[in-house]
Amino acid sequence: MPVVKDFFIALSNNKFMNESAKKMGPALGAKKVVAGVDIDSTIDTVERLNMRGISCTLDNLGEFVTTRHEALEAQQNIVEIMRRNYNANIDAHVSIKLTQLGINIDKEFAYKNTREILLKAHEYGNTFVNIDAEKYEDLVGITETLDRLKGEFKNVGTVIQAYLYDAMNIMNKYQDVRLRLVKGAYKEGPNVAFQTKEEIDSNYIKLIEHRLLTSNAFTSIATHDHNIINHVKQFVKDHHISNDQFEFQMLYGFRTDYAYELAGEGYNFTMYVPFGEDWFGYFMRRLAERPQNLNLILLDIFNKKNKEKIAVGAGIIGAASLLAIGASKLFKKN
Ligand SMILES: Cc1cc2nc3c(=O)[nH]c(=O)nc-3n(C[C@H](O)[C@H](O)[C@H](O)COP(=O)(O)OP(=O)(O)OC[C@H]3O[C@@H](n4cnc5c(N)ncnc54)[C@H](O)[C@@H]3O)c2cc1C
Repeated sequence: MPVVKDFFIALSNNKFMNESAKKMGPALGAKKVVAGVDIDSTIDTVERLNMRGISCTLDNLGEFVTTRHEALEAQQNIVEIMRRNYNANIDAHVSIKLTQLGINIDKEFAYKNTREILLKAHEYGNTFVNIDAEKYEDLVGITETLDRLKGEFKNVGTVIQAYLYDAMNIMNKYQDVRLRLVKGAYKEGPNVAFQTKEEIDSNYIKLIEHRLLTSNAFTSIATHDHNIINHVKQFVKDHHISNDQFEFQMLYGFRTDYAYELAGEGYNFTMYVPFGEDWFGYFMRRLAERPQNLNLILLDIFNKKNKEKIAVGAGIIGAASLLAIGASKLFKKN
C-alpha cells in the first residue's frame, strides 16, 4: 500500500517526532526491534545470539545529525561499542551511517571520523566496519568516502540497494570489497529507482547471482524474504558456491525463528542489531516496509498503562488505517 508506506517514511523524516520519541524512550513496540538504549543490554543481546551461532552487526541509532559535536559523539559511541565488544570477546562488528558521522556537514570531516573508526576497529581485533546505504542524495558522498578508505583498509565494506537502476554498476565497482545486498529502504523517485516490488525483487536476484558468480569477496544477503532466501539456497547448490562465500542477514526482532533455522542449517548468519535512544526513524522505516509490523505497536499499547504512549501509538495506527482506507477507495474508484 504505497500511501501507507509514504506516511511512515514521512514520519521517519520528521525531526520533531524523532526528538519527542527520543525523550520517551523506546516505546510503541520498538523494544522488540531495538536491542536496548545502552551498551550493556546490547552486549547481552549479542551474547544470546552468538550462543545460537549468529554473529551481529551493531548499529548505533542516530538521525538528523546537524552539528560537529553530535557527529563526534556518535563516533565516540561507535568506538566505545567496538572496545566493549573486543573486551567481552563477542562475535560482533559495527554498521555505521555516514550522515551520522557528519557527511552532510563536511565530507572531509566525515571521512576523518570514519577513518578513526577503522583505525580503532583494527586495534580492537581487526573487525569489519560496514558503511550502510542511505538516501540516494547521500550515495555519491558514501562511495567517494569508501573509495578513499578501501585502499588503506581491508575491513571496510558497504551496501548495494537493488531498487536503484544503477545498482549493478555500483556493485561491480566493488568486486573486491565485502558487500551487503538489500532491496532498499528509503523512498526514491522513478528517476533513479524501480518502483514496483516485482522489478525490485527481479533486480535483487540478478545482483545476488551475478555477485556470487563473479566476486571472491564476501557477500551478505540481507532480506527477510523466504522466496529470495530459498532461491539463493538452490542457486548456491546448483553452482557449487561454498557457504564461506556468503551469509544471510536479518534485522533484529524480525523472523527470529527463521534466522535460528538458517543458522542451524549451517549457513553463516548475521543479525543487524540497532541500539540507542534514537529509535523512531528506524522503527518507522520498518513499518513502511511492512505495515503488518503495526502489530508490534498494537501488542505494546494494549500492555501499557502510560496514556501518552497509548495516545501516540493509537494516533499512528489510526492515521495509517485512515490512509489505507482512503487509498483503497481511491483505487476502487479508478
Ligand atoms: C540486515 C539488514 C540490513 C539492511 N541495511 C540496509 C541499508 O544499509 N540500507 C537500506 O536502504 N536498507 C537496508 N535494509 C533494509 C532493506 O533494504 C529492506 O528495506 C528490508 O529488508 C525489507 O525488505 P525484505 O528484503 O526483507 O523483503 P520485503 O520485500 O519487505 O518482504 C518480502 C516478503 O518477505 C516476507 N516477510 C518480510 N518480512 C517479514 C516478517 N517480518 N515476517 C514474516 N514474513 C516477512 C513477506 O512474505 C514479504 O512479502 C537492511 C535490511 C536488512 C535485513
